[in-house]
Amino acid sequence: MSLTAPILHLIVGLILGMIIPRFPLLFFTRFWNLERGLPSHPDPVTVDVPLIQRLLVMRRIHRMGWVLAIIPFGLGILILRLSPEPFAYGLVAGVAWFALSRVVPLDIQSEFGIIPMSLIQKINNLRQPDPPCCDRPMLQWEVRSIRCKHCRKMHLNAPRPDLGRIRSDGRLRGAFRVLLTDGRSPFSIDEEE
Ligand SMILES: [Zn+2]
Repeated sequence: MSLTAPILHLIVGLILGMIIPRFPLLFFTRFWNLERGLPSHPDPVTVDVPLIQRLLVMRRIHRMGWVLAIIPFGLGILILRLSPEPFAYGLVAGVAWFALSRVVPLDIQSEFGIIPMSLIQKINNLRQPDPPCCDRPMLQWEVRSIRCKHCRKMHLNAPRPDLGRIRSDGRLRGAFRVLLTDGRSPFSIDEEE
């Protein structure tokens, strides 16, 4: 028997195992109307109630991934108990990769999860910066940090995660990018500031 078919089955299983848990992220954020309330991608987002609400929704969507991960994982384990199918190995390995990418933080300081609750609380507190940075503070979440639009003071050194807006690079390319980054920002926290 040629080796091509088992390898192909392994790869298909692997891809399914990686993509199925990310379905909520892809579906709800790319093809469903989440556009209300926020400016279009990639414009900075004003720190206000709609942003906090969106962060809570995104957090819920990230959590849904874990529920969906049970399907390919359970199916893979079920098939493996009957016979050692490469497809099932792929499924289990794909889900394992998803779990690792979620559980292992990118740096030691960051907390569990892509949008931790403590980050949402910090941003919520910034709605009324105390003390104000200038006479008309207007805080915006830019790609790399939260800054005041008027005086440019940085209030929070945190790169902006995916907020479920339809990306400026189009639905398909945007979806692919989200699949690769898992909704995290491609930037890390700036060291120098
Ligand atoms: Zn200011």
